[in-house]
Amino acid sequence: MKFVSFEDPAQRERVGMLDAERSVIDCQAVEQDFPASMLDLIRAGDGGFAQALRISTQASPSARYDLCNVKLLAPIPRPSKNVFCVGRNYKDHVDEGHRARGTQVAYPEAPQFFTKASTAVVGPDVATWYDSKVTQMYDYEAELGVIIGRGGKSISEQSALDAIFGYTIINDFTARDLQRHHGQWFKGKSLDRSCAMGPCIVHKSAIANPQDLAIELSVNGEPRQASRTSRMIFNIPRIISELSLGMTLEPGDVIATGTPQGVGFAMEPPQFLADGDEVVITVEGIGELRNRVDQVS
Ligand code: MG
Repeated sequence: MKFVSFEDPAQRERVGMLDAERSVIDCQAVEQDFPASMLDLIRAGDGGFAQALRISTQASPSARYDLCNVKLLAPIPRPSKNVFCVGRNYKDHVDEGHRARGTQVAYPEAPQFFTKASTAVVGPDVATWYDSKVTQMYDYEAELGVIIGRGGKSISEQSALDAIFGYTIINDFTARDLQRHHGQWFKGKSLDRSCAMGPCIVHKSAIANPQDLAIELSVNGEPRQASRTSRMIFNIPRIISELSLGMTLEPGDVIATGTPQGVGFAMEPPQFLADGDEVVITVEGIGELRNRVDQVS
């Protein structure tokens, strides 16, 4: 089941489900007491999902929109806290980073966590921005996003997958020059519109093995990244277990799980994003996240 947040013709934020015919079911049009936002749906737990299942079999044509007639938003348009991220989580991406900087390869021994400001989140099919007075090294990173469901504190690796609601796609746009200037990652990873997310959240029941999905990214149709989530250094259970150790994860929290090799800064010569570029990520079983790049000054 694929859940989306979308704007209806009256520009109200709604929760919907995508069906196989590429139509969007407006859940509240079927049952008025359906959760009003994606965060509310996730917080509703098993009861919310059961209601969604019932709606998916009952939706009449009047409760459906053609996908091309609605504006999809980020599935969680404004997460309740920063987006958690894991840096350097694919060996080949660690390799290319060291190669680009001319330093000796050293793999992380524990997940390297940082966050992106929740104000950076944007949805599919809208432009990400960069201001050339702020950054001249704007780069992309294709990532599998994990959406926390039940959550919890000090979650074991064995029960980590039970804490998940579903999966999405994230483009962790990064200002490389800011990242280096500040000596840490938060600022260079948190510019407005630098956390593209979408197009949907696939419920975990529809992803048999999140640890073996193809993940690809192209810029203007040119393939740049192509890998599988099986190549993560720290798998999803390990990430959730370490992140939740002594720190509560809540329903609707978002975790970006790291990017594989092929980022722009490690290319020879480096290739950064430019005005008008179109960046497309595909993750097997989830869909396609497409964002244009706009230079705003
Ligand atoms: Mg990243």
